[in-house]
Amino acid sequence: MKPNHYNTIIIGAGPAGLTAGIYLSRAKMKTLILDSGIAGGQLILTHEIANYPGIEKISGYELSNTMRKQALAFGCEIQSGISIKDINFEAVEKSVQLSNGKQFTADTIILATGGRSRTLGISGEDKFKGRGISYCATCDGDFFQDKEIAVVGGGNTALEEAVSLTKYASKVTLIHMLDHFQAFAHAIDEAKSNPKIEIKMQSRITAFNGEQKLESVNVENLLTHELSELKLDGVFVFIGYEANTDFVQGRCIELNERNEIVTDDQLQTNVPGVFAAGDALAKRFRQITTAVSDGTIAALNAMEFIRQASAIKVA
Ligand SMILES: Cc1cc2nc3c(=O)[nH]c(=O)nc-3n(C[C@H](O)[C@H](O)[C@H](O)COP(=O)(O)OP(=O)(O)OC[C@H]3O[C@@H](n4cnc5c(N)ncnc54)[C@H](O)[C@@H]3O)c2cc1C
Repeated sequence: MKPNHYNTIIIGAGPAGLTAGIYLSRAKMKTLILDSGIAGGQLILTHEIANYPGIEKISGYELSNTMRKQALAFGCEIQSGISIKDINFEAVEKSVQLSNGKQFTADTIILATGGRSRTLGISGEDKFKGRGISYCATCDGDFFQDKEIAVVGGGNTALEEAVSLTKYASKVTLIHMLDHFQAFAHAIDEAKSNPKIEIKMQSRITAFNGEQKLESVNVENLLTHELSELKLDGVFVFIGYEANTDFVQGRCIELNERNEIVTDDQLQTNVPGVFAAGDALAKRFRQITTAVSDGTIAALNAMEFIRQASAIKVA
């Protein structure tokens, strides 16, 4: 095999990409993972993980570092801090060109570039991420047992998660900018009828306050422009999600209306030999376990694709 040719190039070294790397390199497939940041993906941002089966509590850094070491130990190569200049997905021999001039070819590609929750972009948000501000109720709801929290947003996710967070929190203030929710009627009814939920319509958070952790937020009433301070322990922001697919937009890979990658049930995209895994996929639930599962399925199908392609070549 040419030195710069790989059986599989994986784009993205989050849990989905690292899992695919572990499976492929353990099966002796020559595998390269390319990441624009550092290996670990969103796990690096996660202070504590308590819902990864088999491990009671672990920091995101430790879990991702173990995954990275596992992949490297099986012979997987990882290049971090790269920037992709161009990709040719459609040819039988796929190619990836980096901005630093390096070029690689591969039989298969796995897209595992994850995504990010939309943020409010207001004062104090960066400081209190993971110290009171969260974008994932399944991940962090349990840390707010008997605490007062707020949920920001007015879509189905915000309303459903506000209701689910009442299992933990003593009070949930639902803050929404508009005078109406953009959600299903049943989700609105459920939120409105929950005694633990107080709704503030036509309102927005203007600042997050605290010392080491979040202690309060400033809320503006958008009708009267009156400002008030709301003391609380946590804020969950559900104002949308963006897949990291900018680099494939306008190319041959099919995306849905939210720019998430569309695949079949074997996680193959519309282009033969190009698979996708993890949070960048068009799907509902985005967790470490689902990313790891996708990474496994994409890797096993990439292997099968390579096996079938080489069987055809031999015949
Ligand atoms: C604060 C926080 C807490 C969370 N807590 C939990 C939890 O407790 N339990 C749980 O199950 N889930 C949790 N999650 C969700 C979980 O982290 C994600 O579902 C999971 O990381 C998704 O894995 P992924 O590999 O698909 O993508 P990501 O983790 O997003 O990794 C994608 C990788 O791709 C790279 N990348 C992106 N674009 C490019 C590009 N153009 N070129 C090259 N590389 C690129 C990124 O640098 C990144 O390393 C949390 C998320 C956050 C943000």
